[in-house]
Amino acid sequence: MALDELATVEDRFVVGTYARQQVEFVSGQGSWLKDCEGNHYLDLFAGVAVCQIGHCHPDLVAALERQLETLIHVSNHYYTATGIELARRLAEGSLGGKVFFANSGAEANECAIKLARRRRPAGEIVVLEGAFHGRTLGALSATPDPPKQRPFEPLVPGFVAVDRENPQALADAVTERTAAVFIEPIQGESGVHPISAQMLETARTACDRTGAVLVFDEIQCGVGRTGSLWAYEQTRVEPDVITTAKGLGGGLPIGACITSPAHADVLRVGDHGSTFAAGPVVCAGAEAVLDVVDDAQFLDAVTHKGQRLASGLERLRADDVRGRGLMVGFEVEDAPGLARRALSEQKLVINATGPTSARLTPALTITDDEIDDGLSRLGTLLG
Ligand SMILES: *Cc1c(COP(=O)(O)O)cnc(C)c1O
Repeated sequence: MALDELATVEDRFVVGTYARQQVEFVSGQGSWLKDCEGNHYLDLFAGVAVCQIGHCHPDLVAALERQLETLIHVSNHYYTATGIELARRLAEGSLGGKVFFANSGAEANECAIKLARRRRPAGEIVVLEGAFHGRTLGALSATPDPPKQRPFEPLVPGFVAVDRENPQALADAVTERTAAVFIEPIQGESGVHPISAQMLETARTACDRTGAVLVFDEIQCGVGRTGSLWAYEQTRVEPDVITTAKGLGGGLPIGACITSPAHADVLRVGDHGSTFAAGPVVCAGAEAVLDVVDDAQFLDAVTHKGQRLASGLERLRADDVRGRGLMVGFEVEDAPGLARRALSEQKLVINATGPTSARLTPALTITDDEIDDGLSRLGTLLG
């Protein structure tokens, strides 16, 4: 089917919640994608910061093939080793408690919301302005973005949003009635905005003072994206719960809510569940992703590649270059226009998070040469 015909069928049969770019991708390898006409594209977006080890990484493909031939699904009514081993690895490599598996980021956050409310019934949940926590009703209620929220009111009650740059407002908002504070340590969807150390430390202190749960949403900034396995490792703050998804499955749908030991047994039998979650296939995929990413040398390389990308952008005189590791944002006059022209004129995949902000989240396996190639394509557009 040609692209214009595909677009017509899509328009007729797919609910129109997405504004798609005019391209059909048919295959991918590493940081490269191929469209239906055989053109090759350099991918600096990685499917919204998801294809953490590039497209169709041989180790990921091999792990999935092995698992697909062995067992695909039995449900959480029974024991299967892949999910249990993955839980051990995730917990031991972070907060040390337990893991609840989900199928997406929003669902990982739903689990964290339920955990917080289970601990402090009817408690309020404090979130930061500019945060994005997902599209399901609980996660949407935690996402203080009026155009996204308003059509779906009434939302889940009890969410309070505070200025992301005002520690005093955050401290004042957290009381004995607060069940949790949710923070994206680096806000992704609103344009790559790192939250200051002072805000994170204020949140930790306020949660300690009131007994609220501090939840870091590492759905986008986790799994090595910022140069450490978890973004919180580069701060002086350890949260009580982290949520993760996106890069964890390397392209397969998986989410996880990881607790500290003190919060490991808040949710009990019957409190929460998911039919598909912790399936052997996605868990085998996540193991393969972690085998590549959870490695000191690999993570150091992410830091260096992030610096190469950011300093290259500064040399191109992009405004307000920000982020950490391979999660980079910058300002341009017309970001959606830049993303469109990058795709059509330069065969370069980048993303606009807003009218003036662009985001780059390449595969963590991208090479220095590919970064330089991407910068030169961007330079042509910005020059
Ligand atoms: C993408 C994202 C989510 C939602 O994840 P889905 O898998 O789309 O449900 C939540 N929080 C953050 C920080 C995200 O980047």
